[in-house]
Amino acid sequence: MAAVRETGSGGANAGIPENAVEIARRHLVQPWPVAGSVGAEARALIDDGEGVYITDGDGKRLIDGPAGMWCTNLGHRREELARVMYEQAMQLSYNTPWYTMNAPAAELARRIAAAAPGELSHVFFTTGGSSAVETALRFMQFYNNVRGRPDKKLILSRGGAYHGSTYLAASLNGRPRDRDWMDGTDDLVVKLSSPDPFRRPKGLDVNAFANLLVEEFRDRIAAIGADKIGAFVGEPVQASGGVIVPPDGYLQRIREICRENDILYISDEVVTAFGRLGHVFASGDVFGLDPDMITFAKGVTSGYFPLGGVVISERLLEELRRSNHPDAMFAHGLTYTSHPIGCALALKNLDILEDEVLAHAREVAPYFQTRLKTLEDLPLVGEVRGLGLMACVDCVADRESKNPLQLDKAVGARIDAHCHELGLLVRPLINMCVMSPPLIITHEQIDTMVAILREGISRTMEDLR
Ligand code: PLP
Repeated sequence: MAAVRETGSGGANAGIPENAVEIARRHLVQPWPVAGSVGAEARALIDDGEGVYITDGDGKRLIDGPAGMWCTNLGHRREELARVMYEQAMQLSYNTPWYTMNAPAAELARRIAAAAPGELSHVFFTTGGSSAVETALRFMQFYNNVRGRPDKKLILSRGGAYHGSTYLAASLNGRPRDRDWMDGTDDLVVKLSSPDPFRRPKGLDVNAFANLLVEEFRDRIAAIGADKIGAFVGEPVQASGGVIVPPDGYLQRIREICRENDILYISDEVVTAFGRLGHVFASGDVFGLDPDMITFAKGVTSGYFPLGGVVISERLLEELRRSNHPDAMFAHGLTYTSHPIGCALALKNLDILEDEVLAHAREVAPYFQTRLKTLEDLPLVGEVRGLGLMACVDCVADRESKNPLQLDKAVGARIDAHCHELGLLVRPLINMCVMSPPLIITHEQIDTMVAILREGISRTMEDLR
């Protein structure tokens, strides 16, 4: 019989055989695999977590540098969050959202609408970020169908974007490796340039670059026709594209052009909402935007439960209510829409964020950015950029060309391996390391994180010598 091990504080994994990594290699298909090892991937086992730390299968404690996938905002093993899930499950574990509703979902929608900018008043809950983006896009299609504009459906997206892994949402993705071997509905999507100031065309200052992006936006709409374009979808800060903070004023100008052309502005805040930039939503409080829809997920439950959603403007709902097709159905829903456990948990998560953690995140963010910026003295580092508690260390072959491709392709993975040994989990993205720790991180833990990164990058420079 296989040996059995008690793990975590409460022995939650009791009864699971010890050779989990080997079992995974035989039976688990992990996300983002490559063909050569699909279904046989060896990934590090993570056994437990507490606060900003996780512990791997060898008992090594690591700072959770990327907060899982930008999501463990309140950190691991937070008792109030665990307790509320238990209590909700003991009261009502599920209700069918089609013809009944539950109180936690209603109250969470009210709280989210109160925190959202402009006319955003209602929430459609989903199971995560991809389903939130998919919902927003299908809602745009339905809205234009009901309003008698069936041709107004194209979606504007940008290079460097990541919007999810369901078919339509994934079609918006702008990073080449997300699309190289995958199909998509390309006929529905118009791709625009990435708003990446670091890799802007040579000779342009950042203002001129912003003007160029805005001009491209206007020109493409004029060439295609606004009557064919339903929505623009954009992350306020492109996260998985490498923490691309757009030039000042650019997003506001794009929003205005959308308004002028009756194109819905969908702000994808799956990463930036729920504290990552110091506020519940960044669209209004950081960028002064009033989107027609905002998508969110991840931090809404600090990663304890799969939940996401779309906040929708009262204006759009009112137009539908007044349309000539009162019987037209938005035939879209998920078994787990408005899940009571997820919504009860998200309410508690929001209480803790608003009572203590948002203020802390705003206080600690400048220190986080300043300390990480010191890594720019390392020759391998082209730029450290970021906003709030999200940052990216962008490694280059040389600072003049800023070329990441001439570098060893596994440079991010090399840094990650060294940092793992030293006690920090890194999120490697080819030549980049993304840092987005739990929002509860302290100044001291930031110092440790930056010191480990410095050592990990230095060791990588030795490897590449
Ligand atoms: N949108 C953005 C901006 C994201 O970063 C992600 C995931 O990283 C998604 C959507 C998809 O979310 P999920 O993985 O929860 O489906």
